[in-house]
Amino acid sequence: MKRLAFLNNPFTIALTGGIGSGKSFAGEILSELGAIVVDSDQLSHQSLERGESGFDQVVSHFGDSILTNGEIDRKKLAQIVFENPNEKKVLESIIHPLVREKWDEVVKLAPNGTVLVNLIPLLVETNGKARFDLTITISASEEIRKERLLKRGLYISQIEARIKNQVSDTDRATYCDIEILNNGTQAEFAQEITKIWQAQILPRVAEKI
Ligand code: ATP
Repeated sequence: MKRLAFLNNPFTIALTGGIGSGKSFAGEILSELGAIVVDSDQLSHQSLERGESGFDQVVSHFGDSILTNGEIDRKKLAQIVFENPNEKKVLESIIHPLVREKWDEVVKLAPNGTVLVNLIPLLVETNGKARFDLTITISASEEIRKERLLKRGLYISQIEARIKNQVSDTDRATYCDIEILNNGTQAEFAQEITKIWQAQILPRVAEKI
């Protein structure tokens, strides 16, 4: 019986960071290094698709007006919760357990020795670290993050509003096991992640097998 419990025992990493810090880019590098990367935002979008229990729960609470062509219109939903913190809590109380369930399914299916990375923008805000073997946060100066996001086509008002809604890099660094800085070039960032993969991640994976 004990052996069975170890058959599907991947090494799990939560990867967080503020808006524009480089989480997705870090995920791409980790995926090239051999990790399987899952994006919590995608899991949360999936949980609202027609046929999912999240769809029924959200429509029954927020009403048909949040639908466009029979699908949940995430822009309409975002508008409602942006203006009303209580509604935001309701939405989160529906979505977060479903996202966790989906992640648990991925973990269950991953073979022993696999490195599974979960991109979670709100890891600190949701106090989610207990479910992971390792937590990593990406930090970058606010100035650099704004510059990168402006290039990506966001408006400065959107960027500032989102930064204001999130905890600080310092809070994330205190909460997580590893902080990786992304203030330099993409090549420097990739090099740093590769170093951490070899020196800090792989030895922990070997220990867990
Ligand atoms: P979000 O929270 O909005 O999802 P994110 O934390 O996932 O953002 P990325 O999308 O990885 O951040 O990076 C933000 C932008 O900055 C992207 O356009 C990315 O290509 C670019 N970028 C990331 N790191 C660097 C770097 N070191 N040098 C230059 N550009 C970078």
